[in-house]
Amino acid sequence: MRLVLVGPPGAGKGTQAQYIASNLSIPKISTGDIFRANVSGGTDLGKLAKTFMDRGDLVPDEVTIAMVRDRLSEDDAQDGFLLDGFPRNVAQAEILRDMLKDWGLALDLVLELVVDDDEVVRRLAGRRTCSQCGRIWHVEFDDKKDDKCDACGGALFQRDDDKEETVRHRLEVYQEQTAPLVSYYAGEDILVGVDATGPVEEVTQRAMEAIRPYLG
Ligand code: ADP
Ligand code: ADP
Repeated sequence: MRLVLVGPPGAGKGTQAQYIASNLSIPKISTGDIFRANVSGGTDLGKLAKTFMDRGDLVPDEVTIAMVRDRLSEDDAQDGFLLDGFPRNVAQAEILRDMLKDWGLALDLVLELVVDDDEVVRRLAGRRTCSQCGRIWHVEFDDKKDDKCDACGGALFQRDDDKEETVRHRLEVYQEQTAPLVSYYAGEDILVGVDATGPVEEVTQRAMEAIRPYLG
């Protein structure tokens, strides 16, 4: 299964990607996570990406695409993958399509997580991430009073780009650059919308129901 998750920042892509990828036994490939790992590791790629991420802008396509090409070439991605946060504009989508075509492959399905702006802002304002295992939590919805990860005990942190001003800009970037992907993939006839409101487990169930008809 070759799958892409699309949706605004805060829609729950990372959260759902954890469960969907594990249900389908495919790797979850999150470009945001790979960039953040490079930022904390102080690599050249991290240094370059950080200036764009801090502003809430997209990292340039050539850098992002090269990184995804390398990741998709790894052994664990040969029988399927779930992309979270890539592609993020039509140019990236076209290059992904061509890249897969060169390898004799194509995407099976694009799931759009649908949630309104107010909910997205509430979700982003309370998002916390585990510095050790990367798991995503929410201060209010997960009732996180301490700053510890329930899964591994690691310290939770708030992402720099989840500050209110940056969030506003990221939502604009989504509307301008990423939202056009929805009609692009509808045109390719591989788009399915999933209602991403309500409890996490219910959203996962809806996503798995949407995926089922496409499983071989
Ligand atoms: P969110 O989960 O809130 O949508 P991500 O973790 O996916 O955010 O991305 C964080 C930041 O990493 C983005 O604001 C952008 O700067 C960069 N980034 C992630 N994926 C891409 C991509 N496909 N193209 C360009 N920049 C990206
Ligand atoms: P994205 O990757 O699309 O930016 P995340 O998966 O990081 O979104 O989720 C953003 C925040 O919303 C996180 O704090 C997460 O715990 C929370 N969240 C995700 N899904 C739900 C849901 N169904 N109900 C309530 N909160 C959610």
